[in-house]
Amino acid sequence: MRAAALALLLAAALPAGAQETDLTNGGTAADPAENPIETSPAPEERPANVGAGTSAPAVVPEPEGAPDAVRPAGAGVRDALALGDADHAACLAALDALGAVFAEAEPIIEEGDPDCGILRPVQLEAVRPGVAFSPPAPLRCPAALALAEWTRDFAEPAAERLGRGAITAIDHGSTYVCRRRNNAPDGKPSEHSFGNAIDIMGFRFADGDPVAVQPRERDGTMAEAFQDAVRASGCLEFTTVLGPRTDEAHADHLHFDIVERQGGFRLCQ
Ligand SMILES: [Zn+2]
Repeated sequence: MRAAALALLLAAALPAGAQETDLTNGGTAADPAENPIETSPAPEERPANVGAGTSAPAVVPEPEGAPDAVRPAGAGVRDALALGDADHAACLAALDALGAVFAEAEPIIEEGDPDCGILRPVQLEAVRPGVAFSPPAPLRCPAALALAEWTRDFAEPAAERLGRGAITAIDHGSTYVCRRRNNAPDGKPSEHSFGNAIDIMGFRFADGDPVAVQPRERDGTMAEAFQDAVRASGCLEFTTVLGPRTDEAHADHLHFDIVERQGGFRLCQ
């Protein structure tokens, strides 16, 4: 607020014509929060299809600048992420208490790859009572628990405002997949490789059309408001949130994961 007030005072004190240049040179003009209201572009001036289809802004590579994940050195990630008996039991109990439908599944171990896999996966069928996880898929229990908590605390209340009835399904594109980040041939493993990540493609509702995750920049709809709400709230539960406008690879889904980074860093783009 202080910066915005200062900008307004400067704008009032400067002759016309000098304002825009000085504010831009000051580095504040690009930030709407610090920009005088009268210089903000009106949404109506934008072409109707901006943000749709292939017009995503500059590609942002997966988090090179983010702090590294916190994991014991030397061990394969699959083993490093294993929960002890007590923690695993507590996770299963918490998941059950949230009304998730799941089964404990056989360990997923990729021969020859010490990183990929889930030692104690849960096969998640429903995130919450009446909210299918479609299709059923394996996750580490803490990832399934994060999804269930987020659904209860944020997605379900947001759906109440949407007016299409209760959420009946969360459609996803993938959970566990042994691969590198961004499907590259080498490099760091994706959090999908450990059952820590979920790619949400869309939501279905009891009394209305589904909402697919897609570029929706300023389309002015309740579906956009819902998508923005679930995306923003995702960062209160998950430590990585990527989606449309992050890069082209995430134009049609929300990537949520629970990687633990140094300093508790969260990467939400
Ligand atoms: Zn993903």
